[in-house]
Amino acid sequence: MSTIFTKIIEGDIPAHKVVENDDHLAFLDINPSAEGHTLVVPKKEIDYIFDLSDELLTSTMLFAKKVAAGIDKALDPIRTGIIVEGMEVPHAHVHLIPIYKKGQPFSLGANVEVGEERMKELAKLISDEVQL
Ligand code: AMP
Repeated sequence: MSTIFTKIIEGDIPAHKVVENDDHLAFLDINPSAEGHTLVVPKKEIDYIFDLSDELLTSTMLFAKKVAAGIDKALDPIRTGIIVEGMEVPHAHVHLIPIYKKGQPFSLGANVEVGEERMKELAKLISDEVQL
């Protein structure tokens, strides 16, 4: 059975997509730790990130770097942090979490309430600043 992220990639379930190329997709996390919390996934469905080929792991991280640059430009956090955990969804992904102030909780879980309209706006703001 496909993972929920494959369903998002294939457009079978909705998501606030930010940017994509042939091999990767970035979209907003539905339970954000901070405004602009974005997930980067390889389109190939592989559970454990360290099972990715060297090429796919490298291209995923380089794609994440470009998305993080877009987040930094669009939302002006102090910096964007990354977490790779993968205990919930068995489809490799990188969490990009903007850090707006020192001491901001930096963990997974819905630390902020972000409404649908704002999610839509955030996806566009970031998308407009990402240069692939
Ligand atoms: P983890 O597997 O623990 O690294 O985290 C999985 C992440 O996927 C969590 O932060 C969830 O909020 C997020 N997530 C789960 N389902 C969706 C979805 N349909 N759209 C966007 N994000 C999701």
